[in-house]
Amino acid sequence: MSLIEPHGGRLVDREARGPERESLLKASVKMPELSLNAREEADLELIASGALSPLEGFMGEADYVLVRDQKRLANGSVWTIPVTLSATEEEQSKLKVGDDVALRSRDGRLVAVLHLAEIFKYDKHLEAERVYQTAEEKHPGVKALYDQGEYLLGGHVSVVDNSRRAEFAPYRFTPRELRALFAERGWRSVVAFQTRNPVHRAHEYIQKCALETVDGLLLHPIVGETKSDDIPATVRLRAYEVIIEHYYPQSRTQLAVLPAAMRYAGPREAIFHAIIRQNYGCSHFIVGRDHAGVGNYYGTYDAQRIFGFFEPGELKITPMFFDNTFFCRRCASMASLKTCPHDQSHHVSLGGTRVREMLSQGEIPPIEFTRPEVAQVLIEGLSRISAAAA
Ligand SMILES: [Zn+2]
Repeated sequence: MSLIEPHGGRLVDREARGPERESLLKASVKMPELSLNAREEADLELIASGALSPLEGFMGEADYVLVRDQKRLANGSVWTIPVTLSATEEEQSKLKVGDDVALRSRDGRLVAVLHLAEIFKYDKHLEAERVYQTAEEKHPGVKALYDQGEYLLGGHVSVVDNSRRAEFAPYRFTPRELRALFAERGWRSVVAFQTRNPVHRAHEYIQKCALETVDGLLLHPIVGETKSDDIPATVRLRAYEVIIEHYYPQSRTQLAVLPAAMRYAGPREAIFHAIIRQNYGCSHFIVGRDHAGVGNYYGTYDAQRIFGFFEPGELKITPMFFDNTFFCRRCASMASLKTCPHDQSHHVSLGGTRVREMLSQGEIPPIEFTRPEVAQVLIEGLSRISAAAA
């Protein structure tokens, strides 16, 4: 028995190497150019490494429309989030189908070459309503959509730049690298935990409950673009390092970063995140309450319910659903709404805002809520941020 197969059966590799890369670099000086936004840059890295398999580039119209309307690619396989490259009227007027286009990062580096196969117009409002379930500009994913160009460019990509890989280097693995690591450790079943928040006892409990039933645990925090009020990735990673050091079985735990940009598309993004983890070699994926949500746009359990929309077997990765967890004084242990019969007065639970408040005043939250080693890292991290802001 081996690790789970990638979504679509084959791990894509769109990273140009050796002579292919040299000739693309040489040819790129005469190519028309396009600048990428943060999300498109993040998507390119994921496409290159196969994390978005079976995608080989940015979506053409057939895939785009079907994903938007039916949560599927044109070949019928499950896909819930448009992965697109936008261009303004002026930008697209300089391009024609069949061109190779040099894609540049926000700081001007040549990142990839797009083999332009399609240019098409699209309905932003419809995409917002179908994918994000709201047309409100207040929603950060919808705002990003409204801010981008009026055209979409479809086509395979050849990625020539991997300098982003220097960031968080010890934890930045491609799906191939992570799969090799799992195999080396003898893991066949691996559960992934995705987060953009620091790790508290509630997360630790969920992760360990899941680990009881599988070989290995992948802690896979997102380090792509997140909301500006999320705790910075460097601080979150440091918190993971200390909690793993003191409280996790080293031989069954792997920390890695996921360089994906958050869309905050709630349920649809939960499916997207599960598919990505399958490509990284994970057999199971933890879906908590309000996964990838923002504000009150999605119901608490919508990100769990959406998995029932697909036929059994359409998604190879198995979701593991968890309810709200906390320390219960009567149970004298961590528990969830599913397992604890006692009322709220026995539960130690603190809102995110209150915790942030305590930490920024240098106060360590109760041990039932957060490990002191983690609290210390967060206190130091937050004080550095406020010192930098002052
Ligand atoms: Zn209880």
